[in-house]
Amino acid sequence: MPILTTPAILLRSHPYSETSRVLRFYTRDIGLVGAMARGVRKGASRGRGGTASFGEGVAVITFRDSRDLQSLHEFTPTNAHLGLARDFRRLAGASVAAELVLRHAQQEPHPELFEALSGGLGRLEATGPEGVVGEVLSLCWSIVQLLGFGPELEVCTACGVVLEDGDMGRFDLEEGAIRGPGCPAAEGARRIGPVARTHLTAFLHGEVPPGLRGRRAHLSLLDDFTTFHMLGGRRLESFRFLEPESFPDRDAPAHT
Ligand SMILES: [Zn+2]
Repeated sequence: MPILTTPAILLRSHPYSETSRVLRFYTRDIGLVGAMARGVRKGASRGRGGTASFGEGVAVITFRDSRDLQSLHEFTPTNAHLGLARDFRRLAGASVAAELVLRHAQQEPHPELFEALSGGLGRLEATGPEGVVGEVLSLCWSIVQLLGFGPELEVCTACGVVLEDGDMGRFDLEEGAIRGPGCPAAEGARRIGPVARTHLTAFLHGEVPPGLRGRRAHLSLLDDFTTFHMLGGRRLESFRFLEPESFPDRDAPAHT
């Protein structure tokens, strides 16, 4: 049976029996893969980072194409990303990213997605408290984009006119696209001005725009967009922990 060695990020782990677990990895070489890990004692790996979510390392998998669940030979963490697990806001952001990948990624190589996840989780872990929301937005929107769900921001979805730099648009949630100032939008459709549009474009490319503002509105758009287009209408609990009210810096400029 072929043995595959690949860089991998552990997205989820759940017990299967007293001594085995099912681990779901996003790997660089074969994309999303589920693997059975045998001989893992209950609780034994806690704190070691071995089967803690978001640990990144090298997985050795006995791989057979016809199986849904592969067999994990070994997982050696090179970066346990423990800084994500220790901060509920970072953990919440990483959980949203993981959920999008678990729901929509395939068992097929998508190295850009692997890099976006790996790099984004690293930056989310490393940033200061004021940078968390920006990194969450960048990580999650870049995953949305790489999974093929990215919204259209350049052209009015109703009439096809290219929006001018200064145009105020409205975000058509169902279409996953913008309506320009000349076209009526659904009642309650959120306004999205030139700055917010530029910032959202940066997020889709995995960047955090300088001078980010309106974090709360950006989180709300990400929440609504993923709920509607990627999560079958069910909101992720994790967003509650990301709301600006739940941390002190709000959208105020940094005082330091
Ligand atoms: Zn239009």
